[in-house]
Amino acid sequence: MLVPAIVFLAGLCAGSFLNVVILRTREGTSFVGGRSRCAACAVELGPSELVPVLSYLALRGRCRHCAVPLSIQYPLVEFVTGVLCLALFVHADSWMMFVRDIVFVAFLTVLFVYDLRYMEILDRFTVPAMGIALLSNIYLGSDPRSLVMGAGVLGGFFLAQYAISKGRWIGAGDIRMGFLMGFMLGFSHAIAALFLAYLGGALFGVALIALKRADGKTPIPFGSFLAVATVTVLLFGNQLVDWYLGLLLG
Ligand SMILES: [Zn+2]
Repeated sequence: MLVPAIVFLAGLCAGSFLNVVILRTREGTSFVGGRSRCAACAVELGPSELVPVLSYLALRGRCRHCAVPLSIQYPLVEFVTGVLCLALFVHADSWMMFVRDIVFVAFLTVLFVYDLRYMEILDRFTVPAMGIALLSNIYLGSDPRSLVMGAGVLGGFFLAQYAISKGRWIGAGDIRMGFLMGFMLGFSHAIAALFLAYLGGALFGVALIALKRADGKTPIPFGSFLAVATVTVLLFGNQLVDWYLGLLLG
């Protein structure tokens, strides 16, 4: 029980760091050094206000200085990162695989939150992640052809949509996201993730329209769906592909 507990707590702290990365990327300031500040009144946060999840609960979601509500993003990202680290730990066959999955999920979490909040898929995250994914997967024994084929098919699929619609259906960031998914997952799992993302996006769109929160033209942060689908397939890819092949082959 001790190791899983440490993994979970380390995951909470990693989530806290990812929040800093997201916030400071948005503000254009450095990730390292400098104390974190309240976004509203700029008061510096003390050590007791930087404890993942617990600080948010203790402060009842408000800045101690100006009482402006703090974004629910902070505790949510911390908690979900903790849970994901634990799930990856249980799932991984080796420490190397665990480290690779943690790095993948860290990039995907940042991409998820950034597209959801700011409707942007930044190259500064997708491009380095592509290189890391390709090299680490080859190092861990993946077939390079499968990785390149997955990247080519997904990236090409988005590139074609981008070209046909002149950038109206999807953004250029989605093309890079497609390459990244292929390099992370390999061909068959990348296709499974693409399918899941469209399913999730469609259900979400229908739900929004049903709730009259959107019409057919409301932009959907599709990169966030791609990120969630990629994490799902990282964890459950084999079961999903087996299940799908079982359906096809009866
Ligand atoms: Zn404040």
